[in-house]
Formats: sequence, structure tokens, C-alpha cells
Amino acid sequence: MVYKTTNFNRSLDRNSVIPFNKPYMTGNEIANIFESYNNGVLAGDGAFTKKCHKWLEENCHIKKALLTHSCTAALEMAAILLNISPGDEVIMPSYTFVSTANAFVLRGAVPVFVDIRPDTLNIDEEKIEEAITSKTKAIVPVHYAGVACEMDQIMDIATKHKLAVVEDAAQALGAYYKGKPLGSIGHLGALSFHETKNIISGEGGALLINDAKFLDRAEIIREKGTNRSRFFRGEVDKYTWVDIGSSYLPGELIAAFLYAQLGKMDSITAARISLWNTYHEQFAEGESLKKWRRPIVPEHCQHNAHMYYLLLPSLEARESFIHYLKQHGINSIFHYIPLHSSEAGKKFARYIGDMAVTNSVSDRLVRLPLWIGLDHKMNEIVDLINRFSL
Ligand SMILES: *Cc1c(COP(=O)(O)O)cnc(C)c1O
Repeated sequence: MVYKTTNFNRSLDRNSVIPFNKPYMTGNEIANIFESYNNGVLAGDGAFTKKCHKWLEENCHIKKALLTHSCTAALEMAAILLNISPGDEVIMPSYTFVSTANAFVLRGAVPVFVDIRPDTLNIDEEKIEEAITSKTKAIVPVHYAGVACEMDQIMDIATKHKLAVVEDAAQALGAYYKGKPLGSIGHLGALSFHETKNIISGEGGALLINDAKFLDRAEIIREKGTNRSRFFRGEVDKYTWVDIGSSYLPGELIAAFLYAQLGKMDSITAARISLWNTYHEQFAEGESLKKWRRPIVPEHCQHNAHMYYLLLPSLEARESFIHYLKQHGINSIFHYIPLHSSEAGKKFARYIGDMAVTNSVSDRLVRLPLWIGLDHKMNEIVDLINRFSL
């Protein structure tokens, strides 16, 4: 059997627009998919899913990993596992993706947003305690751009107040906090393999389980509320409906694709870090001239170069920066509209304090193209950006 692939990683035409993102293919995906196809294995939890689980358990130093069809699904599973119920409160940043909050709102909980740190743009751990009430059940730190939240302080607060910690590590596979893989520090962690992340399967995610008490029930919730997984291991002689759940597992073709990507994580991360470092060095002067501020990565956080962003001095400056790059054929984009100012956020959530950092960052942040294959365009991009003036 012969299959043909287009070279997705080919270099860009000279005059084409430089896209913000371009998914990287390792080249091994098709062979894995073909193996599944050939073996007639299409439903979830086949050989490639098991290989992905083992890889994640070993590389994320975690008791159990379960593939899901998205990070959103993994967060929803976490909310069910924690028995989140109507009226419960869950503390999280407002500067995050919708799913961080929505997964808990689906269980009837109220997200309580706190402001972010001006340096890492992660939840400000100093502001968490003032948000805790008798209804608080969990804290959901989000590791923005693959830079770790202050997990020691967050875990201490959680222990003191008997709260669960769910890490939204959607952007953080391959990043570490004091040597610990992100997603493996809280009670539960959620990864994303969406096309826009570092390691991809189109749509895809995983739930990382650090607290052994969740192991059995997580399998049940993921398999439509049945004990199907135990049945296949021969632990029960029939499978039946035992709890609430949904269908959270991906099909085997997704796992086959993902396994090819996981195997290349180190080189993918290294290639991204190299691009990130080029930006960082080249934009140092602009920072000292107060044209922008560069990302800040604390010494104890090993990031994965998920994102390179600049903070412009104002909303107007950010808009003219994006416009300027667009005119020169480069796509750069802003990021989150804070959830506390979104339509659903106003309806379902509340916030603590003035959210000054969140509001300001959301107006001023711009993300630059960062994808494998961009190397030969870096000089052009950097020169153009360094020539930008208001
Ligand atoms: C991408 C992302 C998600 C959602 O991931 P999906 O796999 O698309 O569901 C959730 N949280 C954060 C912080 C993300 O960046």
C-alpha cells in the first residue's frame, strides 16, 4: 500500500503572508494512522491510546493519564470527579480560555476570578486567599504560555483550606516548575493537543491524575458512566451503568497521530525554544527603549516556548502594531478577552478586586508567529518589528 503526503513543513513562498501558526508534522503520523487502519482499530483505547497513556505517565511523572478528545473534556471530567455542585465556587484567573470556567459552570459552579501577576500573567497567588469562602471547592491555576504558576504557594493555600487543585496545563506540556512537569503538581491536570498547541492531534487532550483516589472513577466517567474499562481488564464479568459520565475518549486514529508527535516532543520543544530565544534577544533593545515589554520567565520555571508575546504601551499602540505587521504580510494576534467582561462571564461568574492587571494586559498583548519552519523568516520579522515606531 502506498500513501502520498504533501510536505506540510515546506518553506513559504517568497511573497506569501506569514501565518500566525502552522501545525508541525513529524512525518511519522501517517505511518501510525495506517497501522491502525490496517489493523481495523478505530474506536478508542486501542494500542496507540495505551502507548500515549504510558508515554504521558512516564514523561509527566504521573500516576495515570487518560486521553480525551480535548482539554475542555479533561476539565469537564475534573469537575465531575471533584463532585462540583450547584453553588460551589472555583477560583481561577479571568485571563484564560473559556473552557477553564465553562467546565465548572456546566456543573452549576460559580467561577470566582482573581487578578494575574504583572510579570508572568499567571493567577496572582497572593490574591487567592481573599477569594476563598465556605463554598470554595477548587483552585484552577492556568500556566499561561507554558510558564508555571507559583505552585508551591498555591498547593500550600489549597492544603490549608482543604481545596482541590486542577492545573489547566493546556499550553504547558514540556514545561516544568522547579523540575516538576506542569500538570503533575495539582490533584488533577488537563493537557491540550489542539492544533494550535506545541504537541498536536488536531483536537485532543488528556486528564492527568495525581491523586490515586480519582483513578477508578475517572475511567468510569470517561466511558459513559460504565465500568467498561474494568470489564476489559477482566476485573468484572459484565459491564454496566454505574455512575454519571460521558464519551470523553478520542478515536484511535487521533491517538495514532498523537503518538508520533509525543515521540518528537524534545526536538519540537528545542526548535521552538530556539525561535523564542531569537525573538527575546532581538527585542531587548526595544524593551530598554520602552517600545514594549518582553515576557518574563522566573528562574525556577522552565518554559516550553508555547508562545512569544510583546506587551505594547497601550491599546492604541497594540492596534497599530498589528496593523503595521499585517501591512507587511505578517499575522500577529491579540489574546483573551477577560472572562469577567464577557457576556457569559457576567452571567455565571464573579470577580474579586479591580482586575487592573488583567484588563491592562488584555488590551496591550500581541502574540507573534512562532512555528517550526519559520527560521528563515526570523530576520525579516525581527527587522520589521524593530523598525516599528508609534
Ligand atoms: C487551548 C486551551 C484550552 C482548550 O483546549 P481544547 O483542547 O481546545 O479543549 C483550555 N485552556 C487553555 C488555557 C488553553 O490554552
